[in-house]
Amino acid sequence: MRVVTTGERHATIDRALRLLGLGAGALEPVATDAQGAIDVADLARVLAGAPPGPTIVCLQAGNVNSGAFDDLAAATAAARNHGAWVHVDGAFGLWAGANPTTRHLVAGIAAADSWATDGHKWLNVPYDSGYVFCAHPEAHAAAMSYTAAYLTGQGQGGLRAPGDYVLESSRRARGFATWAALRQLGRTGVAELVEGCCALARRFADQLAAADGVAVVNDVVLNQVLVRFDDSDDMTDHVIEAVQRSGECWMGGTTWHGMRLMRISVSSWRTTAADVDRSVATILAISRGIAG
Ligand SMILES: *Cc1c(COP(=O)(O)O)cnc(C)c1O
Repeated sequence: MRVVTTGERHATIDRALRLLGLGAGALEPVATDAQGAIDVADLARVLAGAPPGPTIVCLQAGNVNSGAFDDLAAATAAARNHGAWVHVDGAFGLWAGANPTTRHLVAGIAAADSWATDGHKWLNVPYDSGYVFCAHPEAHAAAMSYTAAYLTGQGQGGLRAPGDYVLESSRRARGFATWAALRQLGRTGVAELVEGCCALARRFADQLAAADGVAVVNDVVLNQVLVRFDDSDDMTDHVIEAVQRSGECWMGGTTWHGMRLMRISVSSWRTTAADVDRSVATILAISRGIAG
């Protein structure tokens, strides 16, 4: 089994391959562009490096650092040429598809074989609410389902048996929180949630990028903003640490393209423009204080 994906994949893909017994050695890395999206020409080159055989191409809808989206249409076409299964990791980014102004980012996603996304990120439902969508229900059920003589109720009366689609035989009604959130928000509510977070991410980016010595290093296409202070790893780490200590807001750090960066991810329905303005004021005051 070949698993073809970029060097900017989410780290959980490596773990999943270890758990599945395929091993992280099954990974064949593909190059990325300046924003961390897949280089489709390099994907075609890597795929052509071995004859067609069981292959998964894992694409990304929402880079965990930059928010960048792979060109899903072009990458899927390249994968199809090689008979590969196309999986899309859209843990937070898949939600772009629920908002008219960001929907273009997931263009072509319908042609994929499977998608994964989370409810506990952008939908703001409690951990642990992950979802998988598989375009091949027979293959999906064939992989997951089982029967045993002592069991009753599985698939009886033509009803869908939940246990035929997940790994667990016994689990609580995780879907309930998701159902309730979608019922309450409706189609427009989900779109507004996504759009609102994206607008606030741009607000962060615009205000921070306007300050001396502060750079936003990614194209803010979604809800992710990567910020660098004084073009210095040390300075950036000092600012992150001091902002966290201030208690005013919490931003994590990351390393992306060889740089230490502050990683801002706007994902809560409760975040307001006033919260962003206060956070920016704190971040800038702290960075100026450190710079002396
Ligand atoms: C969060 C995330 C994951 C992992 O999801 P969990 O629900 O935390 O297991 C995978 N891929 C991307 C892009 C993510 O942001």
